[in-house]
Amino acid sequence: MQEKYDVIVVGMGPSSIFCAYELIKLKKFKKVLLIDQGKRVEDRCCPIEKTKKCIHCKPMCNITNGFSGAGAFSDGKLSLYNPNDDDIHVGGNLHKYIGVPKTKELIDYTDKIYLEFGADKKLEGTEYQEEIAKISKRAEKDGVKLINIPIRHLGTEKSHEVYGRLEKYIEDNGIEMMFETSVTDLITENGEIKGVKTIPSKYMDENVGSGLVSAHEQSIYSDKVVLAVGRKGANWLVDMCNKHKIKTDTGIVDIGVRYELPDEVMKDVNKYMYEAKFTGRVGPFRDKVRTFCQNPSGFVSAEVYDNNLTLVNGHSYKERKSTNTNLALLVSHHFTHPFDKPIGYGRNVAQNLNDLGAGNIVVQRLGDIYRGKRTWDYELEKNSVVPTLKSAVAGDITFALGYRTMVALLEFIRAIDKVIEGFGHPDNLLYAPEIKFYSNKVIINEQFETNIKGLYSIGDGGGMTRGLMMASCSGIQMARNL
Ligand SMILES: Cc1cc2nc3c(=O)[nH]c(=O)nc-3n(C[C@H](O)[C@H](O)[C@H](O)COP(=O)(O)OP(=O)(O)OC[C@H]3O[C@@H](n4cnc5c(N)ncnc54)[C@H](O)[C@@H]3O)c2cc1C
Repeated sequence: MQEKYDVIVVGMGPSSIFCAYELIKLKKFKKVLLIDQGKRVEDRCCPIEKTKKCIHCKPMCNITNGFSGAGAFSDGKLSLYNPNDDDIHVGGNLHKYIGVPKTKELIDYTDKIYLEFGADKKLEGTEYQEEIAKISKRAEKDGVKLINIPIRHLGTEKSHEVYGRLEKYIEDNGIEMMFETSVTDLITENGEIKGVKTIPSKYMDENVGSGLVSAHEQSIYSDKVVLAVGRKGANWLVDMCNKHKIKTDTGIVDIGVRYELPDEVMKDVNKYMYEAKFTGRVGPFRDKVRTFCQNPSGFVSAEVYDNNLTLVNGHSYKERKSTNTNLALLVSHHFTHPFDKPIGYGRNVAQNLNDLGAGNIVVQRLGDIYRGKRTWDYELEKNSVVPTLKSAVAGDITFALGYRTMVALLEFIRAIDKVIEGFGHPDNLLYAPEIKFYSNKVIINEQFETNIKGLYSIGDGGGMTRGLMMASCSGIQMARNL
């Protein structure tokens, strides 16, 4: 007999986990299946600590795949909201589907679940309102906006524990979880979803959607399939949209660098807010530039995507500390007619940077960019800011980042330097490529359903959210919609 489920969720990142949590609470469905190409959270580990360089784990990168998705090795900063603000500025577009008041309610609800499963009770960014207001005022003068919202910081090791408890809860409550299994295709019939095709990840040539048809393929059926594939699955999702005529809008791609500088420079901001979210449209092109994922006393990390594409990221532990702060500086790239391949564009930029670094992340000193030269290893050895990503290769990122991107980044650094003295110091480090891929935005209705009946899209992958809290909230709302 063919196996049939009430609901199948593809991916087990935060969006999927919280969808499962809420489905348990609602008790509407008996047979729910979650599928992920990666491992259980307790089996996920990144060997870079021992190997000192990324060994491109087979068949999948452990940083981005498996239970809790990209959340497992994330810094675990849960961005809440400012109760005095009547808009949501961080985490994507969920509020555009369900409205701001409902999104705030969902954040409160989801935050309580994180607390229930062991998140730190302390909220960053609530104490020093006067000092924050002063920084905000200084920033405004230079055309930069400071978004002031409270943050709950789990820390990388605590994120593992919190998600570990959620994994157990979901399993104990009868939801089936299929690990190390890649969904290769969707089964559709007359505009309706009927199920998914899977193969064990070990038979995948690292690349979901690579077209590898194998004897190991299995069909699993359901009239309700939720796609929660994250940025890791964005490329696969594009393939699925093309193949099954799932309607999309041209998405954006955020391209930039991971910026590393001394804690000493960032000490006020780190103390008052933990993470300062600056955004502005500086420079001639007026592209939106923003800071993202700030990690005080943190570590820069590398993560591997499809086709061995290596991207830079960052995180920080609760206990283990460096003396540097790292944060992403991202420029939003909106393309216009006739170009409609933002993911392809981002991949090309990333590929060029990977080639320049012989497969590694490239790092360059800010001062060298101003001087119009590459950075050499011996210069990095003597540099006052010591890189925390040991596998990064000294080089020249300006060979691969476009003029428009570079100008926006340098103008933004200059503007923030006026707010935080030392932000534009020549010894500060730029690592590239830092790229946030979102699938071409999947068009969904207010129930999160695509134009294929019974097929839904949530989380970062389809372009709805960007970040742990909002991805988690989208899962809760998905369960309620179902
Ligand atoms: C190093 C790092 C640090 C970060 N720090 C923060 C932070 O501090 N705060 C914050 O808000 N956000 C942070 N983020 C981003 C955050 O992790 C994501 O926004 C969030 O995890 C998105 O959740 P999601 O459920 O949409 O997708 P994901 O968490 O990406 O999960 C998607 C899952 O789908 C699986 N999958 C994909 N395709 C398939 C397929 N075809 N078949 C089977 N399985 C598939 C993947 O294996 C993955 O496990 C960080 C990310 C990284 C990588």
